[in-house]
Amino acid sequence: MSYPFDYEDEAADESFGAPDIGRQNVLARFIEKVRYVWSNAEAVLPQIEILLGEDQPFGKGVLAGIVYSIQSRPEAIGQHLLRFPTKAVLLVADELLLMDDAAIDRVLIHEACHLGYPRHTKEFFTLCRQLGGAVTSHDAKENNIQVQQKVGARYQTIKTFPSDEEAQAIAWARLQMSQNPGRYRLSM
Ligand SMILES: [Zn+2]
Repeated sequence: MSYPFDYEDEAADESFGAPDIGRQNVLARFIEKVRYVWSNAEAVLPQIEILLGEDQPFGKGVLAGIVYSIQSRPEAIGQHLLRFPTKAVLLVADELLLMDDAAIDRVLIHEACHLGYPRHTKEFFTLCRQLGGAVTSHDAKENNIQVQQKVGARYQTIKTFPSDEEAQAIAWARLQMSQNPGRYRLSM
């Protein structure tokens, strides 16, 4: 997946003072995913107020995040202790809005799992994987390794590889470098 470089300028032009339809849609889909995750986890979902935050998620390259404080006591579900917040705020990165629907869903499933498991524990990853959630932010992207070449001032993606084919991506990039010297990098 590639991202337009001038996205921020476009967004600034078009959405000044207007409601952010993209983010509102993501919030609606997140609420669907919360129901999907927790009904499949066979957990009784308490009433949670889910709001949309205005900030970008914390951290570089982070596509989405939820912010909440835990006031409720942990609840035993099967063998697990779940901690559901009473109020959660979803943060959506600009970058997420540019992704395709399937990728957005994988990211939102990951965030929905965090409502019961705040940390990246083994139980969190088991549930997230089972339900098709992104396990890292990179999993959400269709092609995880991009070979990029510097053209003028910018790097352009010239070929993509699945995340488990790093060795092949490196070999391919080296071949390009030998045939056409220049600056290359892998974006993962
Ligand atoms: Zn996470």
